[in-house]
Amino acid sequence: AIKKSMWAGKSNILVCVRVRPLWEREGRSTVEVVDGKVVVCRDPGRAASDVLRKGRSRERQYAFDHAFGPEVPTARIYAQTTAFLLDGVMSGYNATVLAYGATGSGKTFTMLGTTESPGIMLQTLKELYERVSAAGPVARRPGAGSSGGGRAGGAAAAAPTMDVKVTLSYVEIYNENIRDLLAGGDDYLDLREDPVRGPQVAGVAEFSVDSPAEVMELLATGNRNRTQEATAANKESSRSHAVLQIVVEQKELGGDQVRIGKLTMLDLAGSERASNTQNRGIRLREGANINRSLLALGNVINALGSARKGSYIPYRDSKLTRLLKDSLGGNCRTVMIAAISPAARSFEETLNTLKYADRAK
Ligand code: ADP
Ligand code: MG
Repeated sequence: AIKKSMWAGKSNILVCVRVRPLWEREGRSTVEVVDGKVVVCRDPGRAASDVLRKGRSRERQYAFDHAFGPEVPTARIYAQTTAFLLDGVMSGYNATVLAYGATGSGKTFTMLGTTESPGIMLQTLKELYERVSAAGPVARRPGAGSSGGGRAGGAAAAAPTMDVKVTLSYVEIYNENIRDLLAGGDDYLDLREDPVRGPQVAGVAEFSVDSPAEVMELLATGNRNRTQEATAANKESSRSHAVLQIVVEQKELGGDQVRIGKLTMLDLAGSERASNTQNRGIRLREGANINRSLLALGNVINALGSARKGSYIPYRDSKLTRLLKDSLGGNCRTVMIAAISPAARSFEETLNTLKYADRAK
């Protein structure tokens, strides 16, 4: 029931906001989640002229499909957003989950997570493997802990009718170049258009993994390979977009029907503006490219939201949007998680992120 009402009559995009906890040294919080709404207020104690929207209102409210406060664990966010995408992917539809926000706002914590708090990528793969185990004979069993072959001819489950294959790849887009995060090496990979399978990263390593533990290991390795360099604004600013793609391919046993669903999960580069960082030369160009991809993504999502039939969607404007061409719009569903920091010093970025997310609806 929830699933239906959540998507009913809307564009196929679900937009939610996640507020990370305030750190001790950050002082007072400027963000609150009240009744499922995000309320931002630069300085609740000051006169009206000091606050946002120049005296028109003491605060600004944004309503999204979900607003998750700092106390909400990733598992709940997963369950209330991304879990709903799996049915579609298993039925051969494509879907995208993306984390957007400034550096330090909690994107990687949300998508990749930690051992104690596994991110959405891992939780998704875990559930996917469970479903695949139920659906077909090729399903991999989680190695440890499976006591005996209870599944073969499993009691309640009908006999498998599908040959199911799950593969994953993990790349980064940095400075409009694509690198494989799992294969190692610094080669740039080309993006090609396959008439049947859609945009393909040529030569990307595709992994078929057996257990969630293995997935976590792969993702951690991939993340260590991400390009991270110091800038004036953020010592550990992540300037690359990380793109995890999971392809579920199902083949009818004894038939030749193939069903392919693709789920793309994105840990986007920090959205802070290039103008905020005192960058020169290569850094500046890089900043411009990052903004180009994020801007292009915003434009595509925006165009999809307001699309009249046949209107132009500017997929070709960046590598990121070219790669996502068959994963955004059409029958695809999208979950956007806008990550924000409640810290006063992140106020401008928080507002920018909320505006970007607001525009997506
Ligand atoms: P980003 O990827 O957007 O730059 P991170 O995900 O790396 O930001 O988050 C910055 C820091 O805050 C990390 O140390 C991370 O573990 C922590 N953090 C972020 N969100 C949460 C959260 N919801 N709960 C606890 N810690 C968090
Ligand atoms: Mg990050």
